[in-house]
Amino acid sequence: MYDVIVIGAGLGGLACAVRLQTAGLQVCIVERSQMPGGRAGVLEHDGFRFDTGPTLITAPSLLRELWACANRALEDDLTLVRLEPYYRIVFADGRWFDYWGDSERDEAEIARFSERDVQGYRDFLAATREIYQRAFRELAGQPFEQLRDFVKIVPRLLQLRAHESVYRFVSRYFTHPSLRMVFSFHPLFIGGNPLRASAIYSMIPYLERQEGVYFAVGGMGRVVEALERLFGALGGEIRYGALVERLVLSGEGVCGVHLAGGEELRAHAVVSNADVATTYLRLLPAAAGARLWRWRLRQAYYSMSCYLLYLAAPSRHPLLRHHTIFMPVDYEAHLHELFDGDGTLAELAFYLHAPARTDPSFAPPGADSLYSLTPVPHLGHGDRWSPEETERFRERVVTTLCHLHGLEGIDTAHVIAEKTPRDFLEQHGAQLGAAFSLEPVLAQSAYFRPHNRGAVPGLYLVGAGTHPGAGIPGVLLSARITSRLVLDDISRSRRTVELSVGHLPIEVTQRKGERWLAQR
Ligand SMILES: Cc1cc2nc3c(=O)[nH]c(=O)nc-3n(C[C@H](O)[C@H](O)[C@H](O)COP(=O)(O)OP(=O)(O)OC[C@H]3O[C@@H](n4cnc5c(N)ncnc54)[C@H](O)[C@@H]3O)c2cc1C
Repeated sequence: MYDVIVIGAGLGGLACAVRLQTAGLQVCIVERSQMPGGRAGVLEHDGFRFDTGPTLITAPSLLRELWACANRALEDDLTLVRLEPYYRIVFADGRWFDYWGDSERDEAEIARFSERDVQGYRDFLAATREIYQRAFRELAGQPFEQLRDFVKIVPRLLQLRAHESVYRFVSRYFTHPSLRMVFSFHPLFIGGNPLRASAIYSMIPYLERQEGVYFAVGGMGRVVEALERLFGALGGEIRYGALVERLVLSGEGVCGVHLAGGEELRAHAVVSNADVATTYLRLLPAAAGARLWRWRLRQAYYSMSCYLLYLAAPSRHPLLRHHTIFMPVDYEAHLHELFDGDGTLAELAFYLHAPARTDPSFAPPGADSLYSLTPVPHLGHGDRWSPEETERFRERVVTTLCHLHGLEGIDTAHVIAEKTPRDFLEQHGAQLGAAFSLEPVLAQSAYFRPHNRGAVPGLYLVGAGTHPGAGIPGVLLSARITSRLVLDDISRSRRTVELSVGHLPIEVTQRKGERWLAQR
């Protein structure tokens, strides 16, 4: 009998578990795979290391806050390096833009493309500062469980132009098409389409500027390991190889988990860090109800997926920075194909991670550990990932990087591993193989995104598919919100028990608090 069971040791599950364990609850994480991290995986091969999922750390203050909860300093466990530049964006004509996050160098870069957009950039920063303050600092950390909470902020959202797309908002400030790409592509980092993600997300460049873009020495895997150690040091328990097949119900709601193999574990509260659609559609027994959320998750818009290649390259290409993005020729047409097309792509875009420039331990001397991410449509647009189709796509990616973008020397022979939308479906249980869960559009945000307190008593949700959304800052915020809700509910039920013992009929006492009393 635990106070809380957390399903999944992804960043959201770990962060939530640390917070709850710190508050004095006994928490057990049940993780289906043999290692923590979920999408934040690590791959090692013959002297090469790769982070297989997230690579950029933005909003490091949220990691510091998490460590502070456990009375530790982040710097005791991790070394964060601020990147310079944050990233390089390469356009189809071969020009590039380095984004530094400081006015002087960014304005110089902007002026190389368009002198008159320098003033546009200053105005853009002023507008996005306001969005950052309101939307990120004040609103993203609230639970939005009631429609009235959302309705209250609608006027403010309209003032901030939340009803506009990021691309439209950015186009008000920049005239040059390349600069419009530079300042609008960020929703793609969290699975959103810049042509329809709310302009709220245009504050990401401002957030990056304020807090920096960092790399954890040793990679994202070190962040996961540090969190796992922190949780263990607080007395938390993790069970690996523990696949939850379904949630267990009592008359009150969810009271535990049923593991593959037949074991059942019980707790006052169950927090699911598993994919939100999997939680509602497959783990929660039909008898539990929650029909509205099941219906909505079947109809929902999901993020795009990714095709990932991990390459042990024999040399380091001078064009690449730690993070490099290669834009397509026709940005808008590419986004339409990614999110609304028939599953085929006329052009490819890329994000490349080349961390050995910052941390030489990632590759042998002179060689490069390269991770290439190509955004691709999710499986709802068609499954084109049979072994033969995947092999053709792999060749297309390598050829495009090599011939179109000039990364000579890269060859399919350097491929160590790859990951397709089918892997997102099979390894992560991701609905439609979506890499970032639900698409971040206004109609799937705040009150309209699956709530952190589940639709059935005893069930809570944490991670990318729930409020406020995907990305490390999003899932760390969701861990903060969810842990507070769990703590509120448990302490309320304990107060009810204390009251009930003196004043209310014993039947109520037992229903509200029998497990707690037994434990006491
Ligand atoms: C390729 C890629 C690159 C990214 N890059 C960045 C980046 O640079 N910066 C950034 O901020 N964000 C990035 N993101 C987004 C970020 O990685 C995710 O939003 C975040 O890691 C999701 O964490 P999570 O806790 O919600 O879920 P997950 O990482 O998916 O964790 C869920 C966990 O639950 C476990 N689980 C699932 N079902 C069960 C079950 N039935 N029983 C037991 N265990 C179960 C899984 O095994 C997994 O460990 C990236 C994402 C991807 C895919």
